[in-house]
Amino acid sequence: RLPRILISACRFGQPVRYDGGHTRSASPLLDWLDAEGCLIPFCPEVAAGAQTPRPSGEILGSGGGDGVLDGTARVVEADGSDVTSLYVTGARLTLDLIRQHGITHALLQDRSPSCGSAVIYDGRFTGTRHPGHGVTTALLRRHGVRVFADPESLLADLGLSIPQDSP
Ligand code: SF4
Repeated sequence: RLPRILISACRFGQPVRYDGGHTRSASPLLDWLDAEGCLIPFCPEVAAGAQTPRPSGEILGSGGGDGVLDGTARVVEADGSDVTSLYVTGARLTLDLIRQHGITHALLQDRSPSCGSAVIYDGRFTGTRHPGHGVTTALLRRHGVRVFADPESLLADLGLSIPQDSP
């Protein structure tokens, strides 16, 4: 039996993204994990009370998601509204879920100020990206969760490979 894996709800196909869409794309590997019933979809922002659609957020300051947790950065919307507390709440709720299910691995949506694991936007709303991770990813990684943006890397980290006879 495969371990339970947390997946960003938008990545799973739920229309929870800030623009009301989702980010599921064709992936035999994702389909296989889904068919195995091991994926647990969750959206930190919606769990924390965000509406969909909603203004997008970006992390402004130093340290990315870690900076938000440590107080050197905050999450803002394009009009300058500070939404840091909502994003931190979302991260804490995700950690609660992780603990509840004993989850060790997460497949999260990159570039998000919550779920990003390798790249995030720089807080100026100019479409500029830089290396870093989101608030939820930062908190999960601090608690030993292995967070990935692509399913191949996640599966390799688990020491698993997709069966040859899978669809
Ligand atoms: Fe997707 Fe995560 Fe953004 Fe929710 S917070 S829409 S799960 S990337």
